[in-house]
Amino acid sequence: MRNRRLMLREETVFGPIHSRRLGNSLGINLLPTKGKICNFDCIYCECGWNKDGRTREALPSAETVRSCLEGKLRECAAALVPIDSITFSGDGEPTLNPEFPRIIDDTLALRDRYYPAARVSVLSNATRVHVPEIFAALRRVDNPILKLDAPTDALAERINHPAPGYSTARVIEGMKAFGGDFILQTMFLRSRDFDSSAPEVLGPWMDIVRMLRPREIMVYTIDRPTPESGLEAFTATQMRNLVRPLSDEGFRIQISGK
Ligand code: SF4
Repeated sequence: MRNRRLMLREETVFGPIHSRRLGNSLGINLLPTKGKICNFDCIYCECGWNKDGRTREALPSAETVRSCLEGKLRECAAALVPIDSITFSGDGEPTLNPEFPRIIDDTLALRDRYYPAARVSVLSNATRVHVPEIFAALRRVDNPILKLDAPTDALAERINHPAPGYSTARVIEGMKAFGGDFILQTMFLRSRDFDSSAPEVLGPWMDIVRMLRPREIMVYTIDRPTPESGLEAFTATQMRNLVRPLSDEGFRIQISGK
């Protein structure tokens, strides 16, 4: 199969780009540029398979991130470029950067100085929310956006290919500790052996949502080439219908799709 590694970022701080979900978003990639590091290997990952993203390059240090971010924020502020969100969303899982907590503190301080109205958002697969310093750092940001695509370990195997030791129950416990003050992000798709709309996926996922009561839910689907072939996206209407029981119960749900 041809190499489907398509979207690796070449900068530690990139954009701002317009995001359907976050507005004008300045991105921060805490993983190596020209590489991917993740403890998931999702079948839909826009960065491609982990094996194709291996690199010897080091992860950016807190000092590098701080200086790249300050340079970019200064430049954007001088040019009056609007920024709604400073978003950790790089080529892999940002909480794997060993300096993640310090980087969050530096980012919050720079945000306060240059763009006090901007939100700081972190897109995370939630696999490390049980680590106290990671949890504390995620609690300090405005938008901890935490992924849960599958309600059980067996189903997560099919869509996320997690590294050994993954436990859905542990992730859910970690999310519970947010007391609902987080955004849940869930990918809806169909593959050969995973279907987000199947009763064994959708029903238990909705029960988890009801238990966690996140302040917002982001449901989205594939809109870029994916490493696994044959994946099927859902339309926005299909996703809206699938989650209707939750929206009828008052959950705030943002749907991204065509
Ligand atoms: S968690 Fe995110 S970065 Fe990691 S494999 Fe999945 S989609 Fe890619």
